[in-house]
Amino acid sequence: MYNRINKWGEAMQKRIFVNSNAEDDLNNNQTFTIGVYLVLSFVSLVMTVLNVFTHKGYLTLCTGVFSVLCIINVILTLAGHKAKTVAKDLFAVEVILMFTFFLVSGNPDGFSSIWICMLPPVSMYFFNRTRGSVMCFVMLLILIFLLWTHLGKAVLQYDYTDTFKMRFPILFVAFFSLAFFLESRREMAYVEMRRLQDYYKDLSAKDSLTSLLNRQGMYSEISSKQEYKTFDKLYAVMFDIDDFKAVNDKYGHDTGDAVLLCFSKLLTDSLKGLACRWGGEEFVCILTEKDFSHQDLENLCVKFKEYPFVCDGGIFGVTVSVGVSLAENAEDYSIDGLIAEADEALYRAKNSGKDKIEYFK
Ligand code: GH3
Ligand code: MG
Ligand code: MG
Repeated sequence: MYNRINKWGEAMQKRIFVNSNAEDDLNNNQTFTIGVYLVLSFVSLVMTVLNVFTHKGYLTLCTGVFSVLCIINVILTLAGHKAKTVAKDLFAVEVILMFTFFLVSGNPDGFSSIWICMLPPVSMYFFNRTRGSVMCFVMLLILIFLLWTHLGKAVLQYDYTDTFKMRFPILFVAFFSLAFFLESRREMAYVEMRRLQDYYKDLSAKDSLTSLLNRQGMYSEISSKQEYKTFDKLYAVMFDIDDFKAVNDKYGHDTGDAVLLCFSKLLTDSLKGLACRWGGEEFVCILTEKDFSHQDLENLCVKFKEYPFVCDGGIFGVTVSVGVSLAENAEDYSIDGLIAEADEALYRAKNSGKDKIEYFK
């Protein structure tokens, strides 16, 4: 029971704060949609029964039909993705029909006219701003037609007072304007929230200097992508720029940063895998079998080595050492273990004179 309430709470929260696109909501949030239709069909069923006992005639038919249509919507929603869209379109028509029926047959006194005026906020909320506005516009046209034209008046089963004829459209437009304003504010807040979410997501997953993924970003990419869970061969390549401390000391940190930036560009241009700045002057690239090529790796090292860095009028070059490890069993590997092996190979490359590619054995 608690879980159920929690789920409903989440669904409501999602509607209000997270997803302003009602179309997506209707498609994604099956439970919520079905719940809305069921509640509506129950309410209209109760109204139908009451209408039968109070001999409301035509109105009994309206609420009865509405109740049946809501049940059809539940069935359509359960039937599949496309049917759900149909259910929503049908529901929009039903709301407009109910509105018309109520006006034609009923006697919307002060209280129930306010009740009907709740339709604009409900439409906006359920069908999104554009579609909700179109629906409200259609309802307003129906209202004006029925109350103010001779043809419309002939259809009405009740003689509305002049006060009502004035008051109702004004109330309706006022409620619509308020709903439109609130929905616009909600959408603006939502867009801003999404922008900030993306910004912070980027900030926490990317390295600010090179724009490559950082360690955390790389882990989340690996855990989310299927190609790192099922593969024949997976390579981890670890790079460490040689004598980088000396570059900083000799040419300054800005030049050091330029070297890092240059290496990251060459890395992403040369290798197709998932590249990340592991930390400091160390980089890691994860490659599947189809993306890995020793020749590409060698070309990258040569290109970097030959890159003419300029500082204070002088030209200097920098080299990189590389360690490579390989996982051949997708079921029995850990990314940390694979990177640790690449690190071990890198350590050997460093110890045997740097500017080398070593494979973990
Ligand atoms: P080795 O050949 O053994 O790798 O020697 P190394 O000098 O490259 O390695 P070491 O780990 O001693 O030095 C790495 C240096 O990288 C130390 C640190 O100040 C510098 N560094 C780390 N991050 C940055 C950065 O973002 N920008 C700059 N300019 N330097 C950085
Ligand atoms: Mg290092
Ligand atoms: Mg280094």
